[in-house]
Amino acid sequence: METILRTDITVRDICEGFVYNELEGKGLFGLNGKLTIQPEYQRNYIYADGKKDVAVIDSVLKGYPLGIIYFIQVDDRYEVLDGQQRITSLGRFVTHKLAIKDKNGMQQYIDGLNAEDRDKVLNTPLLIYICKGTEGEIKEWFQTINIVGVALNNQEKLNAIYSGPFVTELKKEFSNSTNANIQKWSAYVSGSANRQDYLERALQWVSQGNVEAYMSKHRQDNDITPVKTYFNAVIDWVSGVFKDVLPEMRGLEWGRLYEEHHHKPYNVTSVSQRVQELYADPYVTNHKGVFEYILGGEKQASLLNIRVFDKATINRVYAQQTEQAKALGISNCPDCALKDDANHTKIWKLNEMDADHVTAWSKGGATDENNCQMLCRHHNRSKGNK
Ligand SMILES: [Zn+2]
Repeated sequence: METILRTDITVRDICEGFVYNELEGKGLFGLNGKLTIQPEYQRNYIYADGKKDVAVIDSVLKGYPLGIIYFIQVDDRYEVLDGQQRITSLGRFVTHKLAIKDKNGMQQYIDGLNAEDRDKVLNTPLLIYICKGTEGEIKEWFQTINIVGVALNNQEKLNAIYSGPFVTELKKEFSNSTNANIQKWSAYVSGSANRQDYLERALQWVSQGNVEAYMSKHRQDNDITPVKTYFNAVIDWVSGVFKDVLPEMRGLEWGRLYEEHHHKPYNVTSVSQRVQELYADPYVTNHKGVFEYILGGEKQASLLNIRVFDKATINRVYAQQTEQAKALGISNCPDCALKDDANHTKIWKLNEMDADHVTAWSKGGATDENNCQMLCRHHNRSKGNK
């Protein structure tokens, strides 16, 4: 891979032919058409808050460094890898779309500056690293350079590495915050369209977790139908099985749950009733686990994080059980006491025992003193169904 450090490109050069899309809030092109400022993998311009964008101009006026900007060279053209926010702020200022406040607190566009300040802005050279390399090299570079500003998240990096028609089409569907489906999707998928969270989930689901291989294989495809179809199948399945839309459903592993359970029939009315009952059950402390618990036929109670016995209860039950055992000359673990081996008379220490539901929670047993017994570790574990 080749990297070149350029220090001869000025603000004036970069802003030559600057195009800004007001509607999408994106700086598109610069450097006389040779530079793509916002390639498809860049997130939307987030500096336009009247603070960060103004700070960029102030820095230039005061002669402060703007930090390193990274370009990727593709043939004889460039794409901004990092620095899009800063370049867009400069471009908007130079093309009269952004004003700063002067010493007297007055709004000033670039033409309102004195000639000296105006020249200072336009003649400021930028520090630009230009990188030319293969997919693999750029990927490695991404992982080693310390990108300035808001770091790209994982999916944003993958979109950069595998940029092409497939990513462009995917972004139109999954990264478009005006897509009317976002509202429905957001009940089950967490994050935002802008930061590529829906796109990330759609790719994870369709690829069964092998996102990189999938993106590489389909990089030049124009057709994203398989991704859309799979994503919609998962969403339709969840919203079909669970009539209730609850906040804890957001961000669950619906792709995996779909793979594991979509071939089974469910009675939607009883599913809904069980969801309500488990939500209302004071012993269920993990509501996020309710859905997988029901889908799996209510076998894996560990998903629900059933409330455990408190310390005071455990101490009282241990003291009582141990006192009785000593009087009878048997083990304080009732299961050991039944056996004919060396542990038949063993008195376990408190920290060698676990509290157990005599009647399991799943069979209606409560988490209170009357339903608590202490078992040795071994017997508690072998009892299983908690
Ligand atoms: Zn035991």
